[in-house]
Amino acid sequence: MEHYDAQSADIVIIGSGMGGATSAWALAPTDARIVILEKGFQLPEQPENRDPKAIFQRGFFRPHELWYDEKGRGFNPGNYYYHGGNTKLYGCVLARYRAEDFDGLAHYDGDTPAWPFRYDEIAPWYDAAEQLYQVRGALGEDPTEPPHGTSYPHPAIPDEPPIGDVRARLAGAGLHPFSLPLGLDLEQWLKKAPTPWDTFPDARTGKMDAENCALLPALKYPNVSIRSGAEVVRLIVAPDGRKIAAVEYMQDGHTHRINAGTVILAAGAVRSASILLRSDTDGLANRSDTVGRHFMNHNLTALIGVSPRYRNDSVYQKSFGLNDFYLSDGYEGRPLGSIQLFGRVSGPILKANVPSVPEFILDFISRHSIDFFAMSEDLPNPNSRVRLDGSKIVLDWRRSNMTAHNLLVRRFKRVLKDIGFPFVFSRLLDRRLPSHQCGTIRIGDNPSKAPLDPYGRAFDHPNLFVADASTLVTSAAVNPSLTVAALALRTASEIKKSVLGIQDDVRNS
Ligand SMILES: Cc1cc2nc3c(=O)[nH]c(=O)nc-3n(C[C@H](O)[C@H](O)[C@H](O)COP(=O)(O)OP(=O)(O)OC[C@H]3O[C@@H](n4cnc5c(N)ncnc54)[C@H](O)[C@@H]3O)c2cc1C
Repeated sequence: MEHYDAQSADIVIIGSGMGGATSAWALAPTDARIVILEKGFQLPEQPENRDPKAIFQRGFFRPHELWYDEKGRGFNPGNYYYHGGNTKLYGCVLARYRAEDFDGLAHYDGDTPAWPFRYDEIAPWYDAAEQLYQVRGALGEDPTEPPHGTSYPHPAIPDEPPIGDVRARLAGAGLHPFSLPLGLDLEQWLKKAPTPWDTFPDARTGKMDAENCALLPALKYPNVSIRSGAEVVRLIVAPDGRKIAAVEYMQDGHTHRINAGTVILAAGAVRSASILLRSDTDGLANRSDTVGRHFMNHNLTALIGVSPRYRNDSVYQKSFGLNDFYLSDGYEGRPLGSIQLFGRVSGPILKANVPSVPEFILDFISRHSIDFFAMSEDLPNPNSRVRLDGSKIVLDWRRSNMTAHNLLVRRFKRVLKDIGFPFVFSRLLDRRLPSHQCGTIRIGDNPSKAPLDPYGRAFDHPNLFVADASTLVTSAAVNPSLTVAALALRTASEIKKSVLGIQDDVRNS
């Protein structure tokens, strides 16, 4: 039995993750009545939050859902539904794309397109996003770092001694390890429990994530509210075919509708595209036939360097990265990608990947190893896409640029061997981890090639904006969240100006 509520809001935001919560934060000080529709609930404080067996072996936090690959095989995706979205489990790396990423780059397996604007346009929004997410970092260590208008709000998170030892060995080999820009209050995090933070969910104990930094402050305003357990199904278009009149969602087993003056879609790259595809036979906002296409997700390989002579008693490990192969392979060849430390990989975490090996052996290996991941750009390809099969989400991901990724992994294995880790194990991460999903509703200058204008507004529907990782034109070889936040701030500023009639500028965002 369907049940329609007569509800309305000036702005409806779909999703409270990095894009949605950042938008809510930026728009909260206006008088606009803002309703956030969020599929998930607030993550409760519970022992499993810091239990590696629960997280990695039992999949305690994984959603009870299946997506399907191009052959129709179901898989359980590592896509998380909470207040704060995927940032509740994120590794807190809040890095900028390199300036060169916005101009398009020639890669071994193809070229990336230029963005509709250059780095200078987004730089002030990166400054603002770093302040909002309280990023800890150090300028001047990474030769590829683009110019900043402001310095990081806090000093970098320190290396633990065994990690500092490896940083020194890498520097001694002529490389340029740099402190990772991280959104984390280390003292608060460790006070709760001495664990790493990468993939450990945070019930408000120190992560600078979308819930803690943006959603909770936004909800303090009387004009902002959130409806939890509200899963948006589709958008409904007015008879003029242009205005989005309402948003339809399921909550408590009922179908509801909320009328919206402006809609900001921010359900994540896979889910946002699914909502638009479900909203019209040919997909809403889809004159360009690109909604759901250009799905990208990074090529990620975990690398574990092992040496019986090295002892790693670190707790969190994740403090530095390397961009020495980012723009070139080091021999004036093409870009390979970035390297960064993983959160500390303990025996129970290894056990989730190699269940046949006894945990005491894995504990021993873990005590004598250091864990990195190599990340290479996934190039936008129209045939790499999200589509629907009835009510099923199909993720037909066509990995790309593996020539560069394989070279990066080979180069870094050699480096690890040269600095004293004779055994290096590696594993390519698969599609069940769509953690860096992006690109499915991209921005662009040309309505025949992109659904959104450079501010994230749908060319076909002037009151529809998209403000999540869907909008990214390229994936770069950089963790996506800070770029999502910077773009969301820029989009919110445009909404203030062109929809709410409020003069706005990045300096008061
Ligand atoms: C384990 C892990 C580690 C990561 N580490 C990093 C890192 O260190 N640095 C980094 O930059 N990035 C990291 N990421 C990626 C980062 O979390 C995402 O890039 C970022 O959250 C994307 O923001 P978003 O707004 O696009 O989506 P999300 O933050 O995922 O937000 C989407 C929101 O929409 C909600 N939603 C979905 N469908 C619906 C619906 N139908 N109706 C209503 N609500 C809906 C979801 O519940 C969620 O709250 C990591 C991700 C994972 C999973």
